[in-house]
Amino acid sequence: MAESATEKTATLPGKCRLCGSPLRVLFSSKLPVAVSSACFPVFRPTLIMQCTTCNLYQKTDETLVADYLNYQVFDNDPAADKLIFKTGKPHQTRSQLVADLVVSQLGGNREGRVLEIGCQRGAFLTALKAAAPNFKLHGFDLDPSYKSIIEPICGPNTYCCGELADVVGPFDACVLIHTFEHIPNPGQVLDTIHRLLVPGGLLVIVVPDLLASPLDFYVIDHTCHFVAPVLERTLLRSRFVGRPDTTIISNEQIAMARSVEKAELPSTPLEPCDAPILSLLHRLECCLQKLPKGPSLVFGTAVIGVLISGVLGDDCIGFIDESPFQAGKKFLGHTIRSTDGLRGERVILGVAESLAPVVGQRLRALGAEVVNPWELAGV
Ligand SMILES: [Zn+2]
Repeated sequence: MAESATEKTATLPGKCRLCGSPLRVLFSSKLPVAVSSACFPVFRPTLIMQCTTCNLYQKTDETLVADYLNYQVFDNDPAADKLIFKTGKPHQTRSQLVADLVVSQLGGNREGRVLEIGCQRGAFLTALKAAAPNFKLHGFDLDPSYKSIIEPICGPNTYCCGELADVVGPFDACVLIHTFEHIPNPGQVLDTIHRLLVPGGLLVIVVPDLLASPLDFYVIDHTCHFVAPVLERTLLRSRFVGRPDTTIISNEQIAMARSVEKAELPSTPLEPCDAPILSLLHRLECCLQKLPKGPSLVFGTAVIGVLISGVLGDDCIGFIDESPFQAGKKFLGHTIRSTDGLRGERVILGVAESLAPVVGQRLRALGAEVVNPWELAGV
């Protein structure tokens, strides 16, 4: 699989989807499987390119698998609402948190116009409506059927699909929550948003933070993968000024940028930051290739869990998840189990390395035979 992926690079056009410069191969996965952003296995090895000029990590159109036609049927869509916990504060959904940021940036509940691009079924627009009822809200997405969901929230003629450039502005703010990383032509879309905004308008972008979560490379429908300095310069190219914040939501970055009339890219080169990302991925792949044969349950239904199930094939006999709202759901042909009745079962931990020892200890206490893949590196 790895050879065929590498061979394919010879025929790739190799132009950056942001700046048009030549690309180089950064990471060619040896796993036969990747993951869709709705957490389904896709049997295609991941191939990541990096722009030799602007440094953007990206997939080419040939290595990308994006199928959004049935996107709304997935009930475990990770882009749906994540709960954000902060010590000493009541928890919020991601939508509520971003809504509060937008209200505060726009100076409170006034008559501002806000467009969400990639609004899906309106989780964020609902939260923003609750936080600032005076705002005039609009939604844009690819699926015409969302009109019947968005207009009851935002009012008549507030949902658009088709061409973003045809949306009628101007807006005081545009918001993209886990949308920007799916866009095949990020520079053009940012230029369009610039035209849709009032001068000094607000652009809010929430995307995965690749440095905190290198497994983002395996998400096969993410066209681009961002570290904060590259995201900041990507925005600057289209005349948006703002520094992404990686501290507000774990594993994610939020850029709150303002449109300006003129902006100049700094001439200083960006510091390379691939080494820790590649080191983690190579170690993970080495470990997954050493997984034991035979029937196993997989603990975790996020990216690592799905990769493990893809590597196991028919040896994956089911999934376990501790969160009460996951147990009992169907996932990849299995019903997700709770941690009950694990005595004597082999469980492979599909969780981050930092969590694996704690989870493993809990499951061993329940009588399970636990495999921590992260410990297989030196085996
Ligand atoms: Zn580039």
